Amino acid sequence: MDISHYVNTLGKSLLAQYGERVHKVALNVGFTCPNRDGSKGHGGCTFCNNDSFTPKGRTIRPLANQLFAGSHAVRRITGARKLIAYFQAYTNTYADIERLRSLYEQALAHPDVVGIAIDTRPDCVPREVLELLCEFRDRGYDVWLELGLQSSFDSTLRRVNRGHGFAEYAETVQQARSMGLKVCTHLILGLPEENASHARTTLSKVLALGTDGLKLHPLHVVKATMLAHEWRMGQYQPLTQRDYIDQCVELISLTPPKIIFHRLTATASADILLTPAWCEHKWSVINGITQQLAQRGLSQGSALGMPWRKEADHVAIAV
Ligand code: SF4
Repeated sequence: MDISHYVNTLGKSLLAQYGERVHKVALNVGFTCPNRDGSKGHGGCTFCNNDSFTPKGRTIRPLANQLFAGSHAVRRITGARKLIAYFQAYTNTYADIERLRSLYEQALAHPDVVGIAIDTRPDCVPREVLELLCEFRDRGYDVWLELGLQSSFDSTLRRVNRGHGFAEYAETVQQARSMGLKVCTHLILGLPEENASHARTTLSKVLALGTDGLKLHPLHVVKATMLAHEWRMGQYQPLTQRDYIDQCVELISLTPPKIIFHRLTATASADILLTPAWCEHKWSVINGITQQLAQRGLSQGSALGMPWRKEADHVAIAV
């Protein structure tokens, strides 16, 4: 049983597009975040810990070294020879345009790199950045703009100190897609005071605006965060693995098959994870989602009356 029998995953989509496996290599090029340095806010999101990007005691290696090591590791572990350079840590559009151009160009100059994915906040994507990304797209590279929305509820975004609201996301996603850029939207399940109904509402608002990809992950509590303090004070309870799987399955069934799922869960390293413990085990979650989809006869889009097999004809190679 494979998740891609039920879900349009990024891996299968890239396999169809390139005729071979393509893998992301995560990069940390030393950006910071406007929600930490005071320009948008202080202290960062209540769940964010610096060490999840740069473990203590480790320095940030030059981009070329990261790509060299990443490409070898990916080739050894997965067999993939083509790469998407994934600018993941912090806010990867938070610099002047010439610095961004130089960093993205450096990544694209690597012979195995076929595209870039840029993780950022929705309130940090000026038009000149979108134009730069369009330039790379027009040169034939695969380009994804990954926007961290997390929730469509402004009250929740305030509660976790995101420093932006849904309106900024709406504006950026519309502008990016009107320029033909592919957008992947990041959502978190299990945010404080949210339940399955909030997750459904957020998904439906995201789908109504339009997106090309989705990333789902559970809220986990890591050390040295405000969320850790709230959890210790009994003010926050994370989802159980069962609840997370149930919510994921529901959201998958409510998502049209043409949308690509870039991720269905996320892990945190054992040295910083406080709770829930199941967030250490990615495959147990993926297998649980796959199993439930299979047992309930569900697949991506099935709750919308979009049968997977039928719709999958055009996605057939893509899944
Ligand atoms: S989660 Fe992202 S936006 Fe929030 S503080 Fe961390 S790096 Fe900044």
